[in-house]
Amino acid sequence: MRFCTLSCIFIAGIFATTVSAQTITGRVVDKRSRPIAGASVSLKVKGTAAQSDADGLFSIQATAIQNPMKSGPATHSMHLQGHNLVFSNATAQNLTVELFDMTGKRTNAVFSRRFDEGMHVLPLSIITGKKTAKGLYIARVTKGAEVRTIAINSLCNASSMSIGAASHSTALAKLLATPDSLIITKTDYTPGVRAVDSDLSQNIGDIELRLVIDPDSIVEVQVEAKLAQMSLEDKIAQTTEVLVNIISPDELKNDKLYGSVFNGGGSPFSDNTKETWATELDKFHDAAAQSPLGIPILYGIDAVHGLGTISGATVFPHNIGMGCTGDTALVARMANITARECRAVGINLNFGPAISVVRNERWGRSYEGYGETPEINALMAAAYIRGLQGYGDLTREDAVAACAKHFIGDGGTTNGTNGGITELSEATITAIHLPPYQAAVREMVASVMPSYNAWNRDGQVFRCTTDKHSLTDILKVGLNWDGFCLSDWDAIPRAAGTGEYTAENVSNAINAGVDMAMISQIYNPTEGNALQLVIDYMASLNSSVPATVSQERLDDAVRRILRIKYRLNLFANAKSNATLRTEFGGTAHRDVARECVRKSLVLIKNEDNALPLVAGEKVVVVGPWAKSLGAQCGGWTISWQGSADNPSIVGTTIFDGLQSIGGSDVTYDESGNDLSQAQKIVLVIGEAPYAETQGDHGYNNKDPESVQDCPQCWDYKNDEMSIYLSDCPHADLLDKCFNSGKPVIVVLLSGRPMVITTELEKSKAFVAAWLPGSEGLGVAQVLYKSGNAGFTGKLTHTWPSSFDQIPVNTGTDYSDEAKGSGGTPLFSYGYGLTY
Ligand code: BGC
Ligand code: BGC
Repeated sequence: MRFCTLSCIFIAGIFATTVSAQTITGRVVDKRSRPIAGASVSLKVKGTAAQSDADGLFSIQATAIQNPMKSGPATHSMHLQGHNLVFSNATAQNLTVELFDMTGKRTNAVFSRRFDEGMHVLPLSIITGKKTAKGLYIARVTKGAEVRTIAINSLCNASSMSIGAASHSTALAKLLATPDSLIITKTDYTPGVRAVDSDLSQNIGDIELRLVIDPDSIVEVQVEAKLAQMSLEDKIAQTTEVLVNIISPDELKNDKLYGSVFNGGGSPFSDNTKETWATELDKFHDAAAQSPLGIPILYGIDAVHGLGTISGATVFPHNIGMGCTGDTALVARMANITARECRAVGINLNFGPAISVVRNERWGRSYEGYGETPEINALMAAAYIRGLQGYGDLTREDAVAACAKHFIGDGGTTNGTNGGITELSEATITAIHLPPYQAAVREMVASVMPSYNAWNRDGQVFRCTTDKHSLTDILKVGLNWDGFCLSDWDAIPRAAGTGEYTAENVSNAINAGVDMAMISQIYNPTEGNALQLVIDYMASLNSSVPATVSQERLDDAVRRILRIKYRLNLFANAKSNATLRTEFGGTAHRDVARECVRKSLVLIKNEDNALPLVAGEKVVVVGPWAKSLGAQCGGWTISWQGSADNPSIVGTTIFDGLQSIGGSDVTYDESGNDLSQAQKIVLVIGEAPYAETQGDHGYNNKDPESVQDCPQCWDYKNDEMSIYLSDCPHADLLDKCFNSGKPVIVVLLSGRPMVITTELEKSKAFVAAWLPGSEGLGVAQVLYKSGNAGFTGKLTHTWPSSFDQIPVNTGTDYSDEAKGSGGTPLFSYGYGLTY
């Protein structure tokens, strides 16, 4: 025990410390774990300042003050003597003293003074000053590179003072072990403080900053107020998304205020122009605004590679090509342009992005996902959603609600069958198919579409639309997500294996976690009321509350829908945007699309300098796809299935592009009948457009009465869809070109890697151009290396060398995933030549 008997200052001890630079890293995030960029990060005591980057990450250098209790031998160029600090200077330099209380709070202004060479005696009272309250302090003395920590007791009244040496040491040790605080600030946010041990290089993980005024809390108040005004019927109507073709705006105003109106692939308006769309959709927006509840509608569409449905829109490469760019900033820009073209005509909900982890290229929707790994899809999901949803601010006029799809395991079905069965353990689903959704939720994705496929786990088959475990446990609760689940096109009856909405299948879906039902029409309207399915859905739900669907569950669904409408600020601003309309399909948008095209191309073979094309060379372009905007855009363009003969698309073909660079040296010979003048041949071949099931390898439904009709199949060998290039329409042109003896450069238009092993031998150069969209000039620029445009794209799929090798995927080997015959693939994931 020591008793303070002296007048004012009692020196408890001086500790030797060593100084070294430690790196402290972490990430600044908001309450939903989304990164906060541009936050200032500093250490309260000592360290460099830093700023968080676009991913919220920061790295800061701390000057460690090592815990004296564990530090090495002291150096003695300063020591305490009575009430004085005694030190010597080899050269003139500053001495700095900082004073902290036991909680680590700085108590006094920093004392700093320059002292000459020689011995000095500094009374401690000068340092502590009069402003120091009685108590125990820590002084940190810095002299050149030397730093010392001193415990000072400034108690004056001896009688009240009793500090046990042991507890004293413990308190000090504790304090000195965490001698610093990290302070994170950003305008509009309350500062965050985190105690750090500057002794250690460490990653302190996520630090959350809270907004001073949280717009979400305002939204929640608005949601509750609106919900309180709604009847059971109103709530049920809010959970309903109705096909535009079967309702009129008046029905929204006077009858039922549906939550959403949508269209599938293809225009519901015969005049498919932006002006008509804007006029027609505004009628719906006006009607909703004039309805008694005044709740705006979400208008949904599949703008999956730009707003491809509308003539004159900018059509971007499909996601498979966007994945190959590896450029997240570009994907965000592409998505933002999509949002701008959507809002230009009054669309505020996009059924995208598809973030399918595509594990089997036989699947007809392979091109809709970014690639075969969870990583590429997670990266691009985040980028796309960021750009589409107004760069994190849904209130912006260029923000559109995203709908990540299809949850979960859509790209993992057995044999790649569209809407088939995914037979994977929960661990494998979590490792492969969930990460893109984690990324999407971090970006606050507004909605998610449960998948048509089923998930067979542990021998039991669950259709995703009615699977509570995946929708509620994994997605909503597990990822702490507050957006809404939108069932796919009549997926509720489909999940039940019927064509009808019943109390049973509706309550199963709603109880599983579906919040809004996408409802179409009965397929043959002459049989009854076109709205019959909608009527059935609403009656089914009505009869289920509260018997099988609780009032709480229904309210939760409506809250989730209203929440997005308020976040989007649709109550104030739902109508089409005339200013954005002026840039619709304009040069600025097409420039970005062309950049996407250039960066998406993957050069998989180039011999004898076949590429780049050189000005002055006679180039003969062969194959109808070279002049087909429809073939280069693929499915989901103007119509659902797309079509090679697609005159409504505005853009440049690959041939147009080549000719605009090569001039009269570039000629076209569709069937390759006379190649004698060619120095090089550019052959454009590949798949015919398709969407969904119609693109599955082996698909061959030719019943024109059926929605699954596949007229494009007829152009394939054996009349069925095929992943073999040799089965595709016009594939025979390759032999014709090859037999001419001239160097053949193949440009492959396809929605996936195809089986090309034999064909590759007949080419000098081979370019995987995917489905590049409306800007064929982008392809030509890279073939000519025009403006120094080179090949940079990298495969996001392992390219199979044979059909039997599928499925073949990179990365971890999950034992329950199906695998093909094995062996070396033709090209590995990440492959791509450059020039
Ligand atoms: C597809 C969805 C699409 C919806 C609306 C469904 O057939 O699976 O991806 O968003 O139709 O067109
Ligand atoms: C598609 C729609 C398409 C419809 C045709 C749906 O499965 O998703 O986009 O227009 O079928 O009936």
